[in-house]
Amino acid sequence: MYQQQVQETPQLKVKQSFFRDTFNKKYNVGFGSPLKDTCSRCFELARKIETASTSEEKVTYMTQKRIHTLKAKAFYQLLKVEPENCISLSFDCQKNNPLPKLTDQAAYFSRQLNMYNFTIVIGTSKSTLDNVRTYYWCENEHSKSSNEIASAVYHTLTNLVIPHNIDKIRLFADGCGGQNKNTTLLGMCSNWLFSHAPSHVKQLEIIFPMVGHSFLPPDRIFAKIERETKKNRSYAIHKFVNLFKEHATVYHLGDGNVEVHDWKKEVSATLKTPGNWYFKFNLSKRFILHRGRQNVSVQGEENYRNQIGQLKYVTKRRKKITDMAPSIVRRGNKVNIKKILDVANLLKKHFGEDWRTIDTLKYYKDVEEDNDNFEEHESLQCVPLEETENFI
Ligand SMILES: [Zn+2]
Repeated sequence: MYQQQVQETPQLKVKQSFFRDTFNKKYNVGFGSPLKDTCSRCFELARKIETASTSEEKVTYMTQKRIHTLKAKAFYQLLKVEPENCISLSFDCQKNNPLPKLTDQAAYFSRQLNMYNFTIVIGTSKSTLDNVRTYYWCENEHSKSSNEIASAVYHTLTNLVIPHNIDKIRLFADGCGGQNKNTTLLGMCSNWLFSHAPSHVKQLEIIFPMVGHSFLPPDRIFAKIERETKKNRSYAIHKFVNLFKEHATVYHLGDGNVEVHDWKKEVSATLKTPGNWYFKFNLSKRFILHRGRQNVSVQGEENYRNQIGQLKYVTKRRKKITDMAPSIVRRGNKVNIKKILDVANLLKKHFGEDWRTIDTLKYYKDVEEDNDNFEEHESLQCVPLEETENFI
């Protein structure tokens, strides 16, 4: 192929051995999964340092890299050290588990139903069944949006045992805009702090890591789960649930014990839109909620260490945080019809025309039959908000 490419310029033609040598030694090719967890900013700065043409330029990039690394470290320092007066929760979504999970190529290219796992780790010590909460739900039950996340966090907060010496709760979550870094979560937390937290709890702080440096305690649990799921194919939900149960206390979101509430609607009726807040929402790394006598005030900080922000209300005029009374979001979420057809095809391929008569596949039959009774709810992709952030 190479020889053909250089047909017009014979001086570029080479022997096969020469080509092989160059291909093997000079090309950065390899097989394997890409390192998706490498931070793109780190990568970009490393390259810039390498290719800088002047020493001034090089120093500039090195300084930028140093600040970037220090900032990332400052986050982990906060996560690692739990002050005596605090309880910390960290939470994250596992990447979607596909249903049915089959290990062949047809499944790889086919659309599948998603099963979601949202996990909260309480405290900074070792994870046990007692301090890990996993909330799971399927795509045909609820979407994956700020409401589901806020409802699960609310459930953990309201069931948390908080000793008398604790006056502050800290939440660590990755800065995904759709699910975590939004006013829905913040509004729900304000409501909990004011109306439901024990009176000795005065503050709740939500802390977001740097994009690309967001490894949190739940990710350790997800890694274990994924190691297991990689080995087996699975088309039954209970197999996933049993696996979750090895690592956490497990709740099925929306089953009557843990309801999904429409926090989003209540929050937008109660809080000002973030564009009208007195600090920049997207640039903030920490939100500190203070419980006052009348209301909750919010302090935004762009830094992990300094406390320079003011304490102000972000509620609309004549609105209070106690005004929120979110209604229950009923189970049932319409799935894209193409997805349902894909799944049916996949099951036909594996189990034959009669797959609908097989007991263990009842779930898929039900999804097909019930889908038209449901509405489609908004589902949000996890896109970090700070892609365009100027780091200096
Ligand atoms: Zn980085």
